[in-house]
Amino acid sequence: MLKEPTNVAECLYFTNRIIGSGKVKAWVFKGVCVKCQGKMNAVKPASALAKPKEYVCESCGNKVPTKEYEESLPMNIKYICPKCGNESEIQVPYKRKKIKIFDEEDQKEKSADAVQFECSKCSDKINVTKKLK
Ligand SMILES: [Zn+2]
Ligand SMILES: [Zn+2]
Repeated sequence: MLKEPTNVAECLYFTNRIIGSGKVKAWVFKGVCVKCQGKMNAVKPASALAKPKEYVCESCGNKVPTKEYEESLPMNIKYICPKCGNESEIQVPYKRKKIKIFDEEDQKEKSADAVQFECSKCSDKINVTKKLK
């Protein structure tokens, strides 16, 4: 059984969404410093809208680039497969890749950043997109 967050503040990422006739709940717990197990904080970028470039340990000052920090963390996923209805859970690395999704509203393909995993029963690929727009 995956450990679920009791508070969204424990998470670097959290989503709970409906995908067709299925459901995906995914979360990534904040990581700790690989050197001292200290708390990692995002280094605030110059612009409030920008993504932080790196994370820094508040105890020892160890700095890790955002991408490296994120990709070292596991994403926890509980899902109901939209294709076969299989209800299961899985852990995958928090690694996004570019995928093409078909936008029903605009009736065209768009590219999106997503963490992709396979249903353990039917092997259908399920995407946890960063943003659906
Ligand atoms: Zn540290
Ligand atoms: Zn399935």
